[in-house]
Parts: sequence; C-alpha cells; structure tokens
Amino acid sequence: MNQVIYLDNAATTRTRPEVADAMMPFFTEHYGNPSSVYEFAAPCKQAIARSRETIAKSLGAKANEIYFTAGGTESDNWAIKAAAEAYQAKGKHIITSKIEHHAVLHTCEYLEKLGFEVTYLDVDENGVVKIEELKKAIRPDTILISIMFANNEIGTIEPIKEIGEIARERGVLFHTDAVQAYCHIPINVDEYHIDMLSASGHKLNGPKGIGFLYIRTGLKLRSFVHGGAQERKRRGGTENVPGIVGLGKAVELAVATMDERAGKERELRDYLIGRVTAEVPFVRLNGHRTCRLANNTNFAFQFIEGESMLIMLDMNGICGSSGSACTSGSLDPSHVLLAIGLPHEIAHGSLRLTLSEENTKEEMDYVVEKIKEVVDRLRSMSPLYEDFMKNNQA
Ligand SMILES: *Cc1c(COP(=O)(O)O)cnc(C)c1O
Repeated sequence: MNQVIYLDNAATTRTRPEVADAMMPFFTEHYGNPSSVYEFAAPCKQAIARSRETIAKSLGAKANEIYFTAGGTESDNWAIKAAAEAYQAKGKHIITSKIEHHAVLHTCEYLEKLGFEVTYLDVDENGVVKIEELKKAIRPDTILISIMFANNEIGTIEPIKEIGEIARERGVLFHTDAVQAYCHIPINVDEYHIDMLSASGHKLNGPKGIGFLYIRTGLKLRSFVHGGAQERKRRGGTENVPGIVGLGKAVELAVATMDERAGKERELRDYLIGRVTAEVPFVRLNGHRTCRLANNTNFAFQFIEGESMLIMLDMNGICGSSGSACTSGSLDPSHVLLAIGLPHEIAHGSLRLTLSEENTKEEMDYVVEKIKEVVDRLRSMSPLYEDFMKNNQA
C-alpha cells in the first residue's frame, strides 16, 4: 500500500507522467516565444494550436472558441465580469446558485457592489438547482445564468441541458463552471446550449495554473487581460506554452479513458459509500445518490468535528477534506452543506473523500477501518454524543 492514500482529487489531481513528459521539451528545447516570427518559435506555435484543437474537439467546439487562461478561477472571473460589462445595456440581472465555487460567488458579490443584481438560486436537499425557481427568476433584464456543471464538494451533477435550453429559449447567456465535470463527464457545448464554459488543467491530471474559457462565437466579450495580441487579443501575455501543452496532453488522455476511468471510480465510490453508511452509525451521505460525480463521496458524521477527523486521518496517511480547500482554515461551515439544508452542527462534521482511478479496494478497506476508529474515538470524547446516548437509552 502507498504511504499516502490520496483522496482529495476534487482539490487537485496528480499530473500524469505522460503529461509531464510532453511538457518538458517546452522548457528546455522549444523555449521560443510563440509570437516571434523566426522558425525557432514554430514548434511552440504549433503545439499551442494542437492543444487548442484537442480541447475544441472534446467539447464539440471550434478551435477559435477556446481561450487559454491561468485556470478555473480566472475563467470564471472572465466569463462573468466580461458578460456583465458587455450586456449591461440590456440589463443588470444575473442568476447563479447558492452552491457555486467561490470563484463564481465572490465574482457575483463584486458585481453587486458595482450595481448588478444577483439572484442566488436555492438547491434541493440533494444539491440540485430547482428548475422552476430558475424559470421564475428570469426577468427581461436578466443577462446571464451561471450554474456549475457539477459541484466540487458534494459531487451533484446539475441538469445542465435543461438549464441551457431554458437560457436559450429566454435569450439569456449561459455560463457553466465545468471545472469538476470537464473530462470526467462527456460535454458537448451545442447539445447543452452552453455559451461559456470554464475548465482547469489540474482537476484532470494536467498541470496547475492553466485552464481555458470556451466562448461561443459571436459573444461580444471584452479582453480580460489587456496586453499583447495573444489569444486573439482577448487575453494578453506570453502564452504558458508548457502548461498549454500539458493541458492538451491531459485532455487527450482523459477523453480516451473517460468511460473506463469513471467506471472504476464509480465502483470504488459505491463500495466506500456502502461500507461507511452501513458500518458507521449516525452518518449521512451528502449530495445526490446517483446524479453524482463518479469519484465523489461526502459524508456528514453526527457529533464530530470534520476538522478533527481530517487531522486524525492525516496521522494515518489519509488525505481528505472537510468542506472545500478554500473554506478549510475558517470556522464557517461550508456554504454548500448549508444550502442543502444541513444544520450547522452537522455540516461541521462533514468529510469529503474524492477518489481517482489509481485508488484500490484495499485502500478503501483501510480507510473504512480508520474512519470507524476515528469516529469512535472522537465520539467517545464528545459531550453531545454522551448526552444523546443517555437520552436515547432513557
Ligand atoms: C477547483 C475549482 C475551481 C478553481 O480552479 P483553479 O484552476 O484552481 O483556479 C473553480 N470551480 C470549481 C468547481 C473547482 O472545483
């Protein structure tokens, strides 16, 4: 068994060795600036074009609709701020959900300060956006709907096709943060009526600090980073050539292995969920049981602090997360868990374990044993648990 059991693939993933290998020559050998005219820079230019093609093909998009960025956060910022600016003459109303990533939520809050109005849609107890509420929320001045493809904490997959159809019918732009879904679930931007889509390399076994924004042809978005003429003048700055090459390679591999990978992950996921929910008392699974990312588990253990659990699991070589990486370190419970209706004290006892195809059943067995030990140990120290047991015996 590996020394570390890595179960935090929603936070980031291991860069595949083939991806690192593909990147290496673009540090050492092909280090030219792609904007240069001489022949020496040609391999860089070609490599960027190839990556763009690969990504476009994976989405049913055109190559010139793919814009490289520094990752998911930048893509979300760009999509939402630029759409707000470009379409504010039509209106200043934006619709999103309460369970978005902070890259979306904090961008929307920023726009509120600039005079935009934002509706944060409720989700049901499984984390699914309520379609009827979405329909009711659309107004003549609504310019953008931004709903994530799949949630990074609880793994719930949203009804993106329906949302896209509604947006299209009502003439509203539709952006989706697909950082968790892209290359894990098949996505076609035309079939789902997606106008803008954010993705990130390091969530699909690619490098960190690289991602892209898909922008449908015809959208009048301004450039996000002002500078040179790179990315068809919409995102200035010398291209992250090794990153772009790595992202392209990661996408190529991920697309080729998608079904098989998801199948393996789903099997392990269901095994882990089955054992934990059967063998640990007072636990619930957060998120939708079936409309769920193949690699996501998220549990709420009553009478326990998720943070304490994480530390004790870490001492046993297990990497997990409570809430999301961005909220760890703060004492607020996850906004996602609160949005699905968990009371604060239960939301605090949550543990997210996100798998990869590299995990094994033996690892899951080890993890379940450790979870049982840790839960017993923490509950034995919990006055809440003691009270509860006393009252229930009476
Ligand atoms: C990780 C993540 C992001 C941020 O992506 P970065 O590339 O780390 O900036 C945005 N949205 C979701 C849903 C994520 O999981």
